[in-house]
Amino acid sequence: LTKTYHSLRPHVPLPPPSQPLSITEFTLSLLRSVTTINPATSLLINAVTGQRLSYADFFRQTSSLALSLRNRYSLSKGDVAFLLCPSSLHVPVLYFSLLSLGVVVSLANPISSDSEIAHQLQLTRPSIAFATSQTSRKIPSNLRTIVIDSPDFLSLSTQNQFNNSSSANSTLVVDQSDAAAVLFSSGTTGKVKGVVLTHRNLIALIAGLYHLKTESSPNEPPEPHPVSLITVPLFHVFGFIILVQAVSLGETLVFMEMFDFETMLKSVEKYRVVSMPVSPPLIVAFVKSELTKKYDLSSLQMLGCGGAPLGKDVADKFKEKFPDVEITQGYGLTETGGAAARTIGPDEINQHGSVGRLYELMEAKIVDPVTGEALPPGSRGELWLRGPTIMKGIEANDAFATSNQICENYGVSAGYVGDEKATAETLDSEGWLKTGDLCYFDSDGFLFIVDRLKELIKYKAYQVPPAELEHLLHSNPEIADAAVIPYPDEEAGQIPMAFVVRKPGSKITEAQVAPYKKIRRVAFINSIPKSPAGKTLRRELVNYAHSGNLSK
Ligand code: AMP
Repeated sequence: LTKTYHSLRPHVPLPPPSQPLSITEFTLSLLRSVTTINPATSLLINAVTGQRLSYADFFRQTSSLALSLRNRYSLSKGDVAFLLCPSSLHVPVLYFSLLSLGVVVSLANPISSDSEIAHQLQLTRPSIAFATSQTSRKIPSNLRTIVIDSPDFLSLSTQNQFNNSSSANSTLVVDQSDAAAVLFSSGTTGKVKGVVLTHRNLIALIAGLYHLKTESSPNEPPEPHPVSLITVPLFHVFGFIILVQAVSLGETLVFMEMFDFETMLKSVEKYRVVSMPVSPPLIVAFVKSELTKKYDLSSLQMLGCGGAPLGKDVADKFKEKFPDVEITQGYGLTETGGAAARTIGPDEINQHGSVGRLYELMEAKIVDPVTGEALPPGSRGELWLRGPTIMKGIEANDAFATSNQICENYGVSAGYVGDEKATAETLDSEGWLKTGDLCYFDSDGFLFIVDRLKELIKYKAYQVPPAELEHLLHSNPEIADAAVIPYPDEEAGQIPMAFVVRKPGSKITEAQVAPYKKIRRVAFINSIPKSPAGKTLRRELVNYAHSGNLSK
């Protein structure tokens, strides 16, 4: 008997799939429908310099840049633009102008190595790149590159200011099934992959998030608009979606070019920040840092946490220290365009350890990794997901989707760009995405993430989820941070090994750490390597553990 879990959230209406519509048109239509936005309202504020991008400037620069890119650079639908841009006031202008032309934006981490960039360029075959004066050195000289912190870029985004955006779109039709963005999954396991999301995927995501916000507070938006501070990078799926969502609601985002904990605290005080999307290491920092006492954080109401597991103990300690700040949880993958499940409202937030209930338009199965059987509530297995926000397989047969548009000329296809094998392994013919996460649902539809299947430690016959041991280690007041990896062992196959960052002044010893459930080897280290989205890079620690550099 197949057990499929359906979302318990209210239905979210979506535009008919065959209607030509880009994510930018859709977002701007939402913005116009909620509010008459005051053009002087800031979309983006640089936390350090205080420079702002107002909605008026955003609209003007976006339509001007789109025209320049179309007329001067002949960019059009199906072209790919490779972006190597740290967060800045130019980024939303760049995203929206390119997407409005149907140009696929390929968003890379500005600190990528040369070989990672070479790999990403080979996969996406862009016809143009956008970079800063700092990052442009990393782009090969044969790829046309526009430097966005240069006077040239300024003229491109300001010179056509007397034209309006409709003239930029007049000759062009973007279909929802067209590819919109290539987002590189953080690659904590295996090689970095380029995830193709279509305009339809993004429309479905934004429709759900927008619905949620406007339903939960129907009389919003108040004046002045609530300010959020974004601590996740704009090139990661989490940051990218938050930015598009902010535009759909006319919200203001404060950002930092380079993340710094104290600058973040200062900015919360200075801009009266109400909410922040964060990753779990930041919640750990809030709990453990003394700096939080130096600043007035009273405006803060909500932290939306996602990207990696948040320990219950950390969440409890946070609640003790900041009783007025709610933590909501969200779970998702780049392949789902972000949030696939989340907690909403005080009742759900109190479901400790759960990442919440399925996103509005999502279906799920929990599948036994060995037998392939779908499992009932309470059983652990691999989470499979299906819905309109999920990247499309090459032959997906998704009731929500339109045809699988493939921009063959440019190498950007559905699924993982340039990797049909990985796409076929991840998506089945019915459109189910295999998440690689070991999960279970309880009988109330709450989803619990146990760990990455691939990162499970096989101790004798037992599966030991490293995340569970990490949570235990985090609960020790003498431990600032910790990560657990498999370590080869003749007798047991693998044993759990812990890397531990001690709190300053702590003299905790290996013998004191080891009794934690099943940790059988300990190494002390200065910091745990993390991805920009806050995921522990366990693979780097595995390499380190085998490098012979560890003190005995
Ligand atoms: P990425 O595509 O880089 O966002 O990575 C997706 C993976 O991050 C998921 O498959 C999970 O393993 C992990 N992840 C994301 N959000 C959460 C969460 N709230 N709790 C636990 N793991 C998460």
